[in-house]
Amino acid sequence: MVKFSWPGRATVLCLLLAIAPSSASADEGAAVFPDDNGVTALEDLTGAALEELLARDPTARLDARGRLLFADRHATTLTGPEAPSRQVAPLGKTFTLHSRPGSKRVIHLDFDGERVCNTAWNDSGLLGPILGGGLACGNHPGFKGNTGGGFSKADKRAIQEVWARVSEDFAPFDVDVTTQRPARNALERTNTSDKSFGVHAVVSSSAQVRNSTCGGPGCAGVAYVGIFDDPQANDARILWAFPEELGNSPRRLADVISHEAGHTLGLNHDGQGNLDYYGGHGIWAPIMGSSDRHLTQWSRGEYAGATETQDDLAVLAQNGIPRLADDHAANKRKAKRIRRAQPVSGVIGTSADVDAFVIKASCRAKVKVKARNADLGPNLDLRLTVKRPRKPAQLVNPLSSASGTAGGLDATWQGKGRPGTWLVKVAGTGARNPASTGYSGYGSLGRYTLKVTGKCVRR
Ligand SMILES: [Zn+2]
Repeated sequence: MVKFSWPGRATVLCLLLAIAPSSASADEGAAVFPDDNGVTALEDLTGAALEELLARDPTARLDARGRLLFADRHATTLTGPEAPSRQVAPLGKTFTLHSRPGSKRVIHLDFDGERVCNTAWNDSGLLGPILGGGLACGNHPGFKGNTGGGFSKADKRAIQEVWARVSEDFAPFDVDVTTQRPARNALERTNTSDKSFGVHAVVSSSAQVRNSTCGGPGCAGVAYVGIFDDPQANDARILWAFPEELGNSPRRLADVISHEAGHTLGLNHDGQGNLDYYGGHGIWAPIMGSSDRHLTQWSRGEYAGATETQDDLAVLAQNGIPRLADDHAANKRKAKRIRRAQPVSGVIGTSADVDAFVIKASCRAKVKVKARNADLGPNLDLRLTVKRPRKPAQLVNPLSSASGTAGGLDATWQGKGRPGTWLVKVAGTGARNPASTGYSGYGSLGRYTLKVTGKCVRR
């Protein structure tokens, strides 16, 4: 459980007073949002709802044009030692990783430093009154202070892990999470008929960058809200993440990047009662909260005391990253055949998604059907059903761990073979009580692989 270090109530009031003149100076009363620049970030918020959000959540700020951003004060304390980063690709491919090559929507993860000029982050007139006064135009260091001069093997593994974890959070969506720099016009959106756009997640170890864009120590990330698909917001496509605030943990860094990207796609914070961020329970926490828990998912506020009931998955899709079409049918007639020891992969894209497969078996020797979620940062808790000829279907759904690391998310069936055609179904599931100890199937989504072994499974 993380501890938050919040400014006291008086400080919060000062902060809100401090930003009031800047919104007024743009000749916009609080009731006339969205602003007259055509900024769509606030289109879903009425003036009253925006005022309420600003009053409730001190991390929410307005820039001088009335655009909403969040300066996130995540905890620095980790609950335990981190496992060494696992490599997911050859180290030479660290900066050419793509989660969905060819997608027109892009989240570019940038680790090697960046020249930042002429953006909202450089504009002291926009940020000055509320944050650190804006960033000087020039080159700014990346992860571990890198300025493009190469990374150690350990750093490359860490970068791969961050990429894999962020990719998994966005697995149900048509968006390419990539470590490769896209062409400049691939991120900017020129007008509403431009279909290629995205955001630029810049990871920086620089205290100066953090101070200039996010107001000082304690800030783990900062991003504008709802700008992902906004042609008027090409100056605000950078979101920042500050790994020094997170002990350089790839897991926490990935959580912060997904959280900030969530802001750019229109999401607000998942709080609880007076807490601006919900810290989760058991192994679970919402991505738009803040915690050190191991199973982080998109949420619709099903836990007790939720302050935000945004349907995260719907909001993400409405603001620039469409849901994927289903990859595997649910019924036996259209089910894909799986062959012995030849894994198939898929994505559980919605809580109602069921992916069906058939196996042809020839004898009664032992068979193993193994469904595994993503190796790093899975959001998917799997359930598996196996139906053998003339036998009732059997459900495999191990209960996930109550606390600590997230165990029990995979599902494996083992049993005797039976000649004929089997039906295997893969789906996501919840566990325990979503209000207090667990989670529903809502955000239990993501990639899986399914593998069948045993000598009587036909090749
Ligand atoms: Zn936030």
